[in-house]
Amino acid sequence: MISKPKGTYDLIGQDAKKINYINNVLAAMCQNYNYEFIRTPVFEASEVFHRGVGEGSDIVRKETYDFKDRGKRDITLRPEGTAGVVRSYIENKMYGRDIQPVKLYYNEMMYRYERPQAGRYREFHQFGVEVLGCDDPFVDAEVISLAYNIFQTLGLKNIRVNINSLGDQESRDNYRQALTNHFAQDIKNMCPDCQERLKKNPLRILDCKVDQDKEIMKNAPQTIDYLNEESKKRFTKLQEYLDLLDIEYVVNPKIVRGLDYYNHTVFEIEILNEEFGAQNVLGGGGRYNGLVEMLDGPQTPGIGFAMGMERILLALDVEEVHLPIDNPLDVYIGYVNDEEKDTALYLVQDLRLNGFRVETEYLNRSLKSQFKTADKLKSRYVIILNSNDIKEFKVKLRDNQTKEEEMVKINDLVDYLDMHI
Ligand code: ATP
Ligand code: MG
Repeated sequence: MISKPKGTYDLIGQDAKKINYINNVLAAMCQNYNYEFIRTPVFEASEVFHRGVGEGSDIVRKETYDFKDRGKRDITLRPEGTAGVVRSYIENKMYGRDIQPVKLYYNEMMYRYERPQAGRYREFHQFGVEVLGCDDPFVDAEVISLAYNIFQTLGLKNIRVNINSLGDQESRDNYRQALTNHFAQDIKNMCPDCQERLKKNPLRILDCKVDQDKEIMKNAPQTIDYLNEESKKRFTKLQEYLDLLDIEYVVNPKIVRGLDYYNHTVFEIEILNEEFGAQNVLGGGGRYNGLVEMLDGPQTPGIGFAMGMERILLALDVEEVHLPIDNPLDVYIGYVNDEEKDTALYLVQDLRLNGFRVETEYLNRSLKSQFKTADKLKSRYVIILNSNDIKEFKVKLRDNQTKEEEMVKINDLVDYLDMHI
């Protein structure tokens, strides 16, 4: 038997139904917020992600699937959504569109070479949004509210929004210097990754999962103490907007986010539940005003977030939220002989095209088995076709709850069902 590659999974059964349901919620929500669906390639030229996500990030240093294709091109499987979307934004000159800002959403599989565990896979599913062309914290608040409202709509409670600000370039540079000074004396005692990070991107040290509990980590300088006036004002404004929207949040100075491209607003949404363990961050995002330029586009501000669908499934399980996925069947149509079978073929199609959820028999089994199947599918109505009835253009319709039976003209069937379902 051939098994699936490590860190992947087959989406089947109840989970497949749940993801389908969630996708519909996400699409409806994005429609109301007026975000436009975008799909970019699963693979891109490696430099899209290496430059876009940043050489200093964990993703590029350890997690990307890089390979050469048969034409010797350097290719990388998409590890996250933003860099590819920004590449597409630039290539398709979306900055020149009439309507600005450009508001996009994606819903795709991502690839990272990670150590698989609960809520962490090598092929995983992210939903995310990006807004390009607006620098106002008004948009930051909208993006956070969209993320927050998705969790609310799905019925998740105990959701906490953590926000922080990295400030503009000047604030970020000052903070970076302060961090470098803070960690420099004691870096020998930290993990090899952190030693590397100190040179390349000291902010990432704060994200370290190995050294998290060390004293030096706990009294590290905090971003918000290094914000200049302008950046401080923005951060205050964002909080006013979130208050106005009634979104519960905490300012969490520890949040710096794993990717290199963030500035100003960064945020993470976590679920507060003991059972969850380390993978309790459901999603996160932030502002990336330098990224479009970094990928050779015109200077354009941007902000986005991404959330992990596998972790949402876990969260729904842990919180015992039941999604309405077990839609019962409207009608089951059974039959015995060939003439009835012909009518079944036609009638099933007719009712389906009129919007009803209909199933029939495929294996020429006994009537008894067909009734059993209808019950298992929780069918609201059962029609057992009969040659004599068909000659009179009628069917016997049984209400599968009350067990009452009624003769209905085939031509009136759609109207009858419309009235009763
Ligand atoms: P983590 O700290 O858990 O590794 P991250 O900072 O790498 O997360 P992002 O790149 O911000 O995560 O991705 C956003 C969301 O995507 C995460 O909050 C998480 O829900 C999900 N996610 C990230 N990596 C994985 C993975 N390997 N498997 C499943 N979901 C993932
Ligand atoms: Mg990660």
